[in-house]
Amino acid sequence: MTETFDAFVLRNDDAGFRAGVEQLGFDDLPAGDVTVRVRYSSVNYKDGLACLPESPVVTAYPMVPGIDIAGTVAESSDPRFEVGKEVVAIGRGLGTAHFGGYAEYARLPGDWLEPLPPNLSLREAMALGTAGFTAALAIQRLEENGLEPGDGPVLVTGATGGVGSTAVNMLSGLGYEVAASTGKVDEHEFLRELGAAQILGREDVSAPGGPIDAELWAGAIDPVGGGTLGYLLSTTRYGGSVANCGLTGGSELSTTVLPFILRGVNLLGIDSVMCPADVRAALWLRLGSDLKPKYLTEGITHEVGLDGIPAVAGQILAGAIKGRTIVHL
Ligand code: NDP
Repeated sequence: MTETFDAFVLRNDDAGFRAGVEQLGFDDLPAGDVTVRVRYSSVNYKDGLACLPESPVVTAYPMVPGIDIAGTVAESSDPRFEVGKEVVAIGRGLGTAHFGGYAEYARLPGDWLEPLPPNLSLREAMALGTAGFTAALAIQRLEENGLEPGDGPVLVTGATGGVGSTAVNMLSGLGYEVAASTGKVDEHEFLRELGAAQILGREDVSAPGGPIDAELWAGAIDPVGGGTLGYLLSTTRYGGSVANCGLTGGSELSTTVLPFILRGVNLLGIDSVMCPADVRAALWLRLGSDLKPKYLTEGITHEVGLDGIPAVAGQILAGAIKGRTIVHL
């Protein structure tokens, strides 16, 4: 191993807030059982929030952001992860409370790691990353609550984003009829390529028309929240479920109890960060098999180096990113 390595570091001290590529040494890394030579990370909405000067998610500085990690084990005191093994990690405190994936090396607890699943390369695992994992978790929760292909259209909101684009492609691969809502009028063809049969404008889904409205959707995956979640609850069919994971449209929720007590609609909360280990391990296996998006690396993914992170972080908070951005180290 080299003595120093490249890292994208956030600092916030007496000299003010700075973000940029620096050289770190191994003594700078936090404690942990396993040191990973990071090959790929990715840029999620939360990484955009981490890079803000007044970040609502970073709890300590200096911080190496990057909530996703894929690489090979460089040093380990955990018998499950021998040197050279390919591994992935997402969530937990990575990139917000514990140094994350935007550095050539990361050190973390073995319990946060998974072996790279069969049928996924390190690059593909990060093309999925937290966003793809969250889309998969949402689909699994919808299925556990009764959703099946053939039930009718499943609406994905924020559809060109990381969670949205992977969800559209996964659902269509499973045989669902997919509807997609987007604010990007130029990206309807992209969504059709991913498998969306019906496209709605963001404004069509941004507020409930009434407490309960026409029954349209067999289910929904919602990274947007706010008025859009209110719309989904009021338009989901009898007994259907809405899986909410995000808040790009706002954290407020305006609804009534009527969708729940008159239509038996389920509101499912989706959290990838503290997802239990058994669920996480099983879902990574599905991500390499039936949930692997067909257009993952061709259509959905773009690549940057460490120096490209600030621009992408700004774009993702502005809602201007299409698909997934991976960071190549
Ligand atoms: P992206 O930025 O990649 O995608 C979000 C999409 O939301 C955008 O592409 C855009 O899609 C839409 N959007 C953006 N701004 C607005 C707005 N003001 N009103 C309505 N729609 C908007 O982010 P991610 O996919 O990485 O994350 C999406 C959300 O999910 C975030 O809030 C994130 O924090 C959350 N998340 C939560 C996780 C969990 O474990 N609970 C895990 C991963 C993400 P379009 O232009 O197509 O409309």
